[in-house]
Amino acid sequence: MSRVTGTSAPPSAPADDAVVRLGGVSMVFEGSRVGGRRVEAIRNIDLEVRRGEFISLIGPSGCGKSTLLRIIGDLIAPSAGTVLVNNKPARRARLDREYGMVFQAPVLFDWRTVQKNVELPLEITGRPAAEREAKAREMLALVELADFAGQRPWQLSGGMQQRVAIARALALDPSILLMDEPFGALDEMTRERMNFELHRIWERTGTTVIFVTHSIPEAVFLSTRVVVMSARPGRITRIVPIDLPRDRTVETREIERYFQLVTEVREALRTPEEAAPAAAAAQSA
Ligand code: ADP
Ligand code: MG
Repeated sequence: MSRVTGTSAPPSAPADDAVVRLGGVSMVFEGSRVGGRRVEAIRNIDLEVRRGEFISLIGPSGCGKSTLLRIIGDLIAPSAGTVLVNNKPARRARLDREYGMVFQAPVLFDWRTVQKNVELPLEITGRPAAEREAKAREMLALVELADFAGQRPWQLSGGMQQRVAIARALALDPSILLMDEPFGALDEMTRERMNFELHRIWERTGTTVIFVTHSIPEAVFLSTRVVVMSARPGRITRIVPIDLPRDRTVETREIERYFQLVTEVREALRTPEEAAPAAAAAQSA
């Protein structure tokens, strides 16, 4: 299977190559009548995500990354703009179960076994028992937890719990996996290991991933493109294509190009004041 990476697609790329197409997406939270203030979370986002890409959204806290992800997944409706997923409105895509979602907290049910947690979406969609069992087993093997199928979630480490959540999200073969800081609660070592795991899973399934993070190394390591957002209201300020070798291994984090890309993303994240401290200081003097 071929995967389109980075910058290579010409402007005339066939329409069905785009899994997600965002046009002029904006979100204003109007605030409640009991005193909540109006927040313009994101402004005028245009983005096209091609099949098989791994896109990271990165930006300062509160810049609207989660909001944008939730809009793509039809968990909230934007104030303006269009969201097309596989050429249909996000609502239709959600009803057609095109999405798998993984959040920072794995949200597993402690009274169910690991196997039964992964079967849950298959139960909800009414799949026969034999199919549910086989599919859940296959997904647990994919995340290398086959031996833990009979355990309860609380018996697993944080990283393993998050792998269960990934297995569950993939159980319905979604065309897009939406991930909101899935490794944010894990320690640094576990997080690095999860990055390798996720990369391997992505390679093996060919799923399109949209991944929210505020870790620059994580974004560079995993992505085909890193989308950099400004502080609120979040806008896309830069898209950095990640032209690292396809195979991402321990060595990837040691090659020179990797460091260059980390620096590039870090610089793209700087506010104008940080980027030109002298000029800003002169101005405020
Ligand atoms: P990020 O994920 O980048 O940290 P969020 O998307 O969570 O940012 O939030 C962007 C802004 O929108 C923040 O100021 C946040 O307080 C505000 N916000 C998010 N969700 C809501 C909501 N349901 N109601 C009101 N304001 C919200
Ligand atoms: Mg968030």
